[in-house]
Amino acid sequence: MLPPVRLICEAAELAARRHLGQQRKGRGDEPYINHLAEVANLLAVATDGADAELVGAGWLHDTIEDTETTRKELAGKFGERVASLVAEVTDDMNLPKARRRQKQIEDAPHKSPGAKLIKIADKISNIRARIVTRPNKKQRDDLADYVAFSKKVVAGCRGANASLDAEFDKVVKAASRVL
Ligand code: ZN
Repeated sequence: MLPPVRLICEAAELAARRHLGQQRKGRGDEPYINHLAEVANLLAVATDGADAELVGAGWLHDTIEDTETTRKELAGKFGERVASLVAEVTDDMNLPKARRRQKQIEDAPHKSPGAKLIKIADKISNIRARIVTRPNKKQRDDLADYVAFSKKVVAGCRGANASLDAEFDKVVKAASRVL
């Protein structure tokens, strides 16, 4: 197993390379890597740095879904737990969007504790990115829709980490102020 600092740095570097050129949705068309940094940092703070594999999986959580990366490659480089955490939060992109969302809601309560934390951190980051000053109707509709969906997913993930649960509630409140 890699020492914790190496694991996190190598995960960050691989994620940066694989997501190169991708942009995230929402606020200011930020590079995708900003989303991954935010999720990894939310996980590091929520667990007070106690779980390097979880933070590494945070950096890598969208690699299987959005890049050419495979579970096998992640297992070889970062170990079985990191690979399985990422696989657990990977949607089947062959399914239509509505079905994928429904599956996220249904599957959430059955995920491992670590995968639940990644899910919550991901939703916090995605909601934050959709909160813009003076949103137009389309932005407001998108935010309302995404918050409603996220609440259903997070309902099945709560209870593993009180500070992350509280952070999610805080971002939902912030979203409701612009809706
Ligand atoms: Zn994500």
